[in-house]
Amino acid sequence: MTLKPQELKHVNYLWDDEIADQLDPVERLRYRSNLLGADQRITNTGGGNTSSKIKLPDPLTGEDADVLWVKGSGGDLRTSTRANFASLYMDKFLSLENIYTRAEVKGVKTEIEDAMVDMYRHTTFGLNPAASSIDTPLHGLIPFRHVDHMHPISVIAIAASKDQERLTQEIFEEEVGWVPWQRPGFDLGLVMRDKLRQDPDLKGLVMGQHGLINWADDDKACYERTLSLIEKAARYIEKYDKGDQTFGGQKYQSLDEKTRNEIFVKLLPVLRGKVSGSNRFIGTVHVTESLLQFVNSVNAPRLAEIGTSCPDHFLRTKIKPLYVDWDPQHESVESLIQILDSGLAQYRSDYKAYYEACKHPDSPPMRDPNPTVILIPGLGLIAWGKNKSESRVTAEFYSLAIEVMRSSEAISEYQGLPRQEAFDIEYWLLEEAKLKRMPPEKEFARHVVVVIGAGSGIGKATAHRVAREGAHVVCADLSEQAAHATAQHLVHLYGVGIGVAGTGISGSGPAIGLGVDVTNRESIRSMFENVILAYGGFDNIIITAGIFVPPDKQGYIPDEKWSLTYSINVTGPYLVADEAKRIWLAQGLKTSLVITTSANAAVAKQGSFAYDTSKAAANHLVRELAIELAPLVRVNGLAPATVVEGSSMFPRDRVISSLTKYNIPFDESESTELLRDKLAAFYAQRTLTKSPITLGDQAEVAYLLSSDKFSKTTGQIIHVDGGLQEAFLR
Ligand SMILES: [Zn+2]
Repeated sequence: MTLKPQELKHVNYLWDDEIADQLDPVERLRYRSNLLGADQRITNTGGGNTSSKIKLPDPLTGEDADVLWVKGSGGDLRTSTRANFASLYMDKFLSLENIYTRAEVKGVKTEIEDAMVDMYRHTTFGLNPAASSIDTPLHGLIPFRHVDHMHPISVIAIAASKDQERLTQEIFEEEVGWVPWQRPGFDLGLVMRDKLRQDPDLKGLVMGQHGLINWADDDKACYERTLSLIEKAARYIEKYDKGDQTFGGQKYQSLDEKTRNEIFVKLLPVLRGKVSGSNRFIGTVHVTESLLQFVNSVNAPRLAEIGTSCPDHFLRTKIKPLYVDWDPQHESVESLIQILDSGLAQYRSDYKAYYEACKHPDSPPMRDPNPTVILIPGLGLIAWGKNKSESRVTAEFYSLAIEVMRSSEAISEYQGLPRQEAFDIEYWLLEEAKLKRMPPEKEFARHVVVVIGAGSGIGKATAHRVAREGAHVVCADLSEQAAHATAQHLVHLYGVGIGVAGTGISGSGPAIGLGVDVTNRESIRSMFENVILAYGGFDNIIITAGIFVPPDKQGYIPDEKWSLTYSINVTGPYLVADEAKRIWLAQGLKTSLVITTSANAAVAKQGSFAYDTSKAAANHLVRELAIELAPLVRVNGLAPATVVEGSSMFPRDRVISSLTKYNIPFDESESTELLRDKLAAFYAQRTLTKSPITLGDQAEVAYLLSSDKFSKTTGQIIHVDGGLQEAFLR
């Protein structure tokens, strides 16, 4: 019997007829999917799928066709749009069974089973480009109009328990059946259909080591049934909650938040270096009370070793996490790092042994053997991924796995997927083909680039430029507001990602905005601490922050303005490099620093003593730092000249005074941009290339100098000045 909405305590009932009734049938499916995906107790990010069989006019004949709309490969229920659903002619899809049964060798993991995935394309309705997933037959072969397949914590807890079949029977009685673990595919669809043929009254099935599937002929009824079944499982589990004795009780105590963060700041760069031996990783720190209860527990080492159960969890979390047995109350950070070192070595050798023991003759080569989830008592969980979104998904998955283990251990004994089954999913040739189809990684993929001065001008343009190359961008600026604005714009352009995890600043997207005063060492240090907590470390730094203090009409610069110019233009980059050095050394990953100087460093001009000499000093700072930071960090200078466009160095009154100085005709009523264009055109005429110098020109070179495209260049100053003969270096 389906529970009523008001009886649900363990899931949120979100269906609203007023919204649903205005939608067409495909949009109703999208709506139902978004509602289900919005609650992690119902399904995890990227996990599960939904379908509706909908009658639609066939574009070829105009007659009604029965069309299976089912969530396609990739994507995520919570954020799905119509474009994430594949559409297949039901009759053509069902006819595929003939092809499957004609194969001499068939069944789970046979060649024909993998080959079926390509056949779905031949059944596409309406030229829909969305690719069908391996779960398509689970929906197409169930003879009901609407099907939900979810990965709910409470049902996976049953499905990952030693006596899962008995528990299914006890909790759901006649309503829900059970099928043992089987890798999803055409054969599993047939198994489920057979089950339903034997017992036509079934409302759903618990899928061993995997999740839940259920159906109805009405979409709202299907949604309500999904919630009701999950609720029933959760209520049963609640009765057996072990309280203080959960996970065998507590062995260690949690550290307070301040201490935790201090340790994370020291630990994360070291750890990032250690796990990034094959590929660079981006980190996420995840700490909740529930997670701490697990990592501090007596049973954590045993349960961590079993690994996660749900098949799409461990593609991200790997076969198992690395649990570090460190006593937060009595041992130092230094000993934590030592324990981690031996733990990582053991993990890599375990992974290699797992690969060797389970591989087939045609298995893809071994992948990165480093752990993606690290559990530390007193501290919490650290996840690693190729980008922020993936590392957040990984953190989310393992915290869901912890909830599964909590529930499963309350009602029975938790068990993982058999190693060979886990391997056959991790190294599934279909997965490998999917990976091979992905576009090559961009230049700054897996990198965190800190742009100081990102609130405006060259810095802002550079932040956008490196983001286009796949960088995670720390937008830092004296104006915290401007830094946030640039970061928010980037997050808007590239999306915040799909994972639902990350504590505090670690829950951020591909860009963050931070305030920093480069003349203040404490301020720089605090910025880097935030960067470490957000991403686990950082790679390249590009400094564009600078100041030009114009002299008064007599050419006089007050002493404090002279000091300020040097503080920002020379001491600033030095302090940033000096603070970054410790962290770079802790990480041990090759990287680069770019400091923006100026063509004025080489051209003496009347009236800009402070600026020009400070930039000459910055040029030499580049060379000194190149020696100091070699071989780990390349240091180069970008020397722009007269970028007028959108520059904070050229406010309206400076533009007007320059136009007056050079006798360029203008009208006071003209816009600042127009006046800047006039000045830029005038400056362009003084250069060899005769074209105005843009922010984009500067950002391009800042990016190139940072990137591996200039991997053999250090200690150099590159001018982007349109060709100024008087600035030629001698
Ligand atoms: Zn699934």
